[in-house]
Amino acid sequence: MELTEKQHIPFVIATKNEDKVLEIREILREFPFEIRTMTEAGVEDDIEENGTSFEENALIKALAVHSRIGGFVMADDSGLAIDALGGAPGIYSARFNGTGSTYPEKIQALWKLLADIPLEMRTAHFICAIAVVFPDGSHFTVQESLDGIFYDKIIGENGFGYDPVFFLPEKGLTTAQLSPAEKHKISHRGKALHAMLAQLRDAWYSFS
Ligand code: IMP
Repeated sequence: MELTEKQHIPFVIATKNEDKVLEIREILREFPFEIRTMTEAGVEDDIEENGTSFEENALIKALAVHSRIGGFVMADDSGLAIDALGGAPGIYSARFNGTGSTYPEKIQALWKLLADIPLEMRTAHFICAIAVVFPDGSHFTVQESLDGIFYDKIIGENGFGYDPVFFLPEKGLTTAQLSPAEKHKISHRGKALHAMLAQLRDAWYSFS
């Protein structure tokens, strides 16, 4: 594959979320990017995510970092959308129930809101949007999702955030019970990163 022949292409990820960076590094391991966090690239700003959709927020973050340092910049905006709650917590997944609350507390708060909803109606989706900004400022976004059920028990040790309550009926497991490699194969983030790579490959040679 032509893209893998290029070496050490600096690619800055506009996030301070270490869990996400870890997953993105794992998924992109086979590609020749030198992944740097915005902190490693010297950008310490807190970027206000004031968009109304995952794709808008991803683009806001990527453009903000690009305006500081140029080059290739990527940002991910992701979250959990529960159908019975009209898609909440959605773009507010990280901030839901207050930024100071732990994930067990956020999950308890969501269980309270879902108290009258039977388990089979607790359909939910992990959603991930990725924005890429090129050195010349042009950009694109992709979005992918993973369908599941917001479970009524906390099960599994892997992953982060809402993984221990995100149940996959066809596997009979939560995403926290999957190995990282198993999760990346099916996850919203894994699929979005691969959709991003497909578009990136197409655009690549005009920038390299
Ligand atoms: P963001 O930094 O605004 O994109 O926040 C994303 C939030 O969505 C995370 O902090 C988690 O709460 C949730 N989330 C996104 N992806 C996942 C995942 O793969 N597993 C569990 N929770 C996730």
